[in-house]
Amino acid sequence: MAFDYDVLYIGSGQATWNGAVPLAKQGLKLAVAEEALFGGMCSNYGCNAKIVLDHPVELARQVEAMQDRGVEGSIFINWSDLMAHKHELIDPQSHHNEVRLTKEGITVFKGHADFVDAHTVSINGKMVTADKIVIATGQRPHRLDIPGSEFVHDSTDFLSIADMPEHVTIFGGGYIAMEFATIANAAGAKVDIITRSDKYLRSFPQQYVTRVVADLKRRGVRFIPNQTIESVEETVDGFQVKGQNDLLLETDYIIDATGRQPNHDYLNLEAAGVESTDRGIPVNDHLQTNVANIYAAGDVVDHALPKTTPVAAFDSRYLASQFSGDSTEPIDYPAISTVVFTSPRIAQVGVSVAEAEANPEKYQITNVDYQSDWFRQVGNETEAYLTLIFNQEHVLVGAAEMSHEAVNSMNTFVPMIEMGLTQKQLQRFIYLFPSIEYTGQRRL
Ligand code: NDP
Repeated sequence: MAFDYDVLYIGSGQATWNGAVPLAKQGLKLAVAEEALFGGMCSNYGCNAKIVLDHPVELARQVEAMQDRGVEGSIFINWSDLMAHKHELIDPQSHHNEVRLTKEGITVFKGHADFVDAHTVSINGKMVTADKIVIATGQRPHRLDIPGSEFVHDSTDFLSIADMPEHVTIFGGGYIAMEFATIANAAGAKVDIITRSDKYLRSFPQQYVTRVVADLKRRGVRFIPNQTIESVEETVDGFQVKGQNDLLLETDYIIDATGRQPNHDYLNLEAAGVESTDRGIPVNDHLQTNVANIYAAGDVVDHALPKTTPVAAFDSRYLASQFSGDSTEPIDYPAISTVVFTSPRIAQVGVSVAEAEANPEKYQITNVDYQSDWFRQVGNETEAYLTLIFNQEHVLVGAAEMSHEAVNSMNTFVPMIEMGLTQKQLQRFIYLFPSIEYTGQRRL
């Protein structure tokens, strides 16, 4: 049977274009259906926008640390100028992403895609057929189901907020809560974080999380743990949050950061017979759903891996290698790195600190306090810590760091861990000096 396309991607984010562009270059006939912005969450209202708003926070911290060490004065974050800068950088991204696809000869359909059968989707009523279909629809913010939820904002709203409210209240204690609290606090807002337990950033080393929380508290962020939020009401001046244990809080702006949920529930999957769960679409080790010609990639997949841009891009490249015939191997995920862009950052890769601590017979942990490192002290960074995890063969298998340099530092450990290099091999690298990479390598 002849199909309109070799591959149709539903969604245009990282799980699509990283594979679609190389496939198009190889001559496959491709189409992408997108109902919102091209490039998806990360490009338009996620990581990219966040890192623009975070940038002056990091600058402010550097200036703050250098007081009486040759630097005077402090940085004032002018939110409206910063937001204009963000719009200038981020707003054209969707168009650029769309052009990038069409320039490669990929057909772009703008509209909502619904499955009609295993090889056919309806996009705004137009029937499109494809040999293979990739569901790459990502996730959307989860909303607490409480009275007054219509007064609550999500991460997308905050990343385009024109004026920083005087008082920002955040539900949840994960990535978004901690990153946005860092930004809003530095931009002068009073910030509350309300959580259902007393745990924050559960997937990161808790000894580092405790320090980041303590730093945010010192800067005025209020942590309100062990709460069940019951309702939000509009008042004359703003909003009132009510919770169990007599919580009654007046605020100007509320962000619900209680996680994300997969975008798989409005694709008419039943028509194609594709099975799904509350957590997304289950796939086998070839990213195939239960229907052989339909695949899922990126955040919409039901698996336990971190839902991050690089994982989605890895999925996409993997599928391209399958569709082009370059490989028939099952997907084999490498050591995955994650970072939370608090200030300082916490980053990690490979075997986690928690896993290493729970299995002392398998792992050896080395803790490094960078206070002793002169190069880290050039910027008077007073809190910087690294944890290295080795297996019994003395191969580096995991690393975690809390510092302003944690992203670059961790990136140097990613290939070391993935390649399974021994200590002897690691000592052969000659890094530039002085540099973060050099100081990290000295600890190996
Ligand atoms: P997270 O999963 O990081 O955190 C969710 C938070 O909400 C947790 O504190 C969780 O509590 C709490 N929570 C969950 N359900 C409820 C509920 N029913 N009632 C009250 N609290 C609840 O989600 P985020 O929204 O912060 O971020 C979404 C995802 O976006 C992340 O998981 C990540 O994949 C991605 N992201 C990645 C970033 C990065 O890589 N730097 C940055 C931002 C987002 P508990 O811990 O008790 O479960």
